[in-house]
Amino acid sequence: MLDITPDPRAAGWTPKRLLVTRSARGFAHGRAILDRAATLGVEIVELSGDRLNLPTADDPRRAYVDAKATLAVVVAPPSKRRFQPIAPSADWRMDLAEGCPAHCSYCYLAGSLKGPPITRVYANLDEIFDALPAYLGQGTITSRSAARAHEGTTFEASCYTDPLALEPVTGSLSAAIAWFGRWEAEAQLRFTTKFANVEPLLAIDHKGRTRMRASINPRAFARFEGGTAPVAERLRALRRMAEAGYPIGLTIAPIIAADGWQQAYGALIDDAAAMLDMPGLDLTIELITHRYNPGSKAVLDSWYPGSALDMSGANRVTKRTKFGTEKQVYDADTMRALRGFFERRIGEAMPTARVLYWT
Ligand code: SF4
Repeated sequence: MLDITPDPRAAGWTPKRLLVTRSARGFAHGRAILDRAATLGVEIVELSGDRLNLPTADDPRRAYVDAKATLAVVVAPPSKRRFQPIAPSADWRMDLAEGCPAHCSYCYLAGSLKGPPITRVYANLDEIFDALPAYLGQGTITSRSAARAHEGTTFEASCYTDPLALEPVTGSLSAAIAWFGRWEAEAQLRFTTKFANVEPLLAIDHKGRTRMRASINPRAFARFEGGTAPVAERLRALRRMAEAGYPIGLTIAPIIAADGWQQAYGALIDDAAAMLDMPGLDLTIELITHRYNPGSKAVLDSWYPGSALDMSGANRVTKRTKFGTEKQVYDADTMRALRGFFERRIGEAMPTARVLYWT
């Protein structure tokens, strides 16, 4: 029998400092986050206005550490309540927060978010939820896919954050899951995570309208994922969610073609298959290869100067995005070898899983 008791390292993240803007204190959810933070013993700074004034240390390393240990409660501007399509994951991107406290040396947020890496969480959750019904049936990604239309209109909550990482102090993910549970509509909330603190989510009346995916990589690559929960804990958490009736998934990302990748990913797939060996499982898999662009590489090189993650350009080609920007992806031979391997090994180990996409 599998042991699915959570390890204490799966307890989740608590900030050292919480900044709350004046406007954020005007929302019930903002005040609830304040109360949670106070209970957790977090230092609270109530700002007199809406600007985030974090005293910045002269030492860039110290400034990075301070910013990553800070959570700011702010009000999402109207632009955040106008959702954008988010291919290939979901019809719409719905942000509960922006930023993440973990220290992954490949993090795609490094090139997307500007300024010190403070995580910002939104106090006006109800306003964000109120915007959802207008998007029902309007999907442009999964809703137009014959293979995925049955998921309903999909909303992805993990584009700019790891929402489970923030859950102990925010409660925002629980609120979103409960909201979708009450929403009698063909819709689905989606989130993916490198954390494992699912305990508060298990008893929510989710009605199967939230799919959690665990974002996983081999143990051998754990050095690239500082501050996250151990992979075995993420898989254990995913199983607990499946037992609580949630549809689940695996996000194998980013797939890194470092020495020994076949053995490392083969073992990962076998570990996942063993943990998720349950009857009637609704399991999806998303496969995302490692990529970077000049902007994200520059930021990551400054944040993680000693990282062994290869961004030298070897085995890479430049790909132009539809927005006119460039990114470095694996070359065709490497991609072909990776893709063939994953399709074969997943087909053998988890034959009932649905692979949603390869990118
Ligand atoms: Fe970035 Fe995800 Fe790592 Fe957070 S857990 S630092 S969002 S890659």
